[in-house]
Amino acid sequence: MIDRIKEFFVDNKLEVTAENLLAVHAAYSGSSPRLARKFGVMREENRVITQAWMDQVTEKDEDGALRENAQQMLNRLSSRLEVFTSTAARARSDSGSYHAALEQVVSVLPGAEGGEFVSSLAELTRAMIERTHLLEESMRRSEQEATALRKSLDRAQRDAHVDHLTGLPNRRAFEAVLESEYREAQVRIEPLCLAFCDIDHFKRINDTHGHEAGDRVIQAIAQTLQHLSDDKCHVARHGGEEFVMLFRDKTPTQVHQLLDEAREKLSRRNFVNRRSDEPIGHITISGGVANVFAFPNARAALEAADAALYRAKRAGRNQICMA
Ligand code: GH3
Ligand code: MG
Ligand code: MG
Repeated sequence: MIDRIKEFFVDNKLEVTAENLLAVHAAYSGSSPRLARKFGVMREENRVITQAWMDQVTEKDEDGALRENAQQMLNRLSSRLEVFTSTAARARSDSGSYHAALEQVVSVLPGAEGGEFVSSLAELTRAMIERTHLLEESMRRSEQEATALRKSLDRAQRDAHVDHLTGLPNRRAFEAVLESEYREAQVRIEPLCLAFCDIDHFKRINDTHGHEAGDRVIQAIAQTLQHLSDDKCHVARHGGEEFVMLFRDKTPTQVHQLLDEAREKLSRRNFVNRRSDEPIGHITISGGVANVFAFPNARAALEAADAALYRAKRAGRNQICMA
């Protein structure tokens, strides 16, 4: 499957991004029969697949399991590439030494005076030199292609952890951070808090001003929350219009206060739709804070912060609740 996927990228001259890999893998592994059918039609009709076509067909696939698959495949592809690059470099250097040895032979062979046998031997050697030269060239090209693919893969690996709309870490990245910070805070006996923040009545913004304006609101809130982040505070987009935060070395009361100030400041802002100049008005957020070590594990703390967020919603929104 890896070979077929590789061919797919080369044949269609597509960039190896997390989204592209996700879609191609879903089609070839059979996990998305819908995509498999679409790719099949393109193949039968001998049509080149463009990025625009990919974007269009992948828009509807948002399955988390597929993402997980893609991440695993990315890692496998990455380690294969590592092996290929070192093999290619070794092969090129071997063929380089062979080349040099043959040239040495040709330089000491006698010319026409050596008779027919020697001159045909010389000719043969020259032909071999030419062959090894071509081989070296093609190895060099393969190495260059591998380097380009490496860069593309590194970018895809990075992209897999970033939310494209806001530039914030995504949920996957956050979970990794949570795991390591949890262990470290536990060892150092430092407080650790989790918080969820969700935009209030966000659906109305989409419905009234359109999805694009909604996107810009998500970006604006992301920026507001990101102002709180530093090496002891991580902010990520958990999905949709919901953000998740992790605070090291702050008590739950301090975290509550910090978030409440951000909430208060945000609620005073007046939003305007930049495209149409129409007023959007006030936008508020609700939040839930949990003291991580008051729960048996990080997962339970996440659930508690989420439950506190929903208490904030039920209590009228535009407030931060403690778990
Ligand atoms: P509540 O105060 O209870 O949170 O109400 P709400 O309207 O904010 O919540 P609800 O979950 O009903 O609606 C969230 C909406 O967010 C639904 C979904 O279409 C929209 N949404 C999710 N992701 C995005 C996105 O990336 N961009 C835009 N524009 N909308 C999104
Ligand atoms: Mg909401
Ligand atoms: Mg929500």
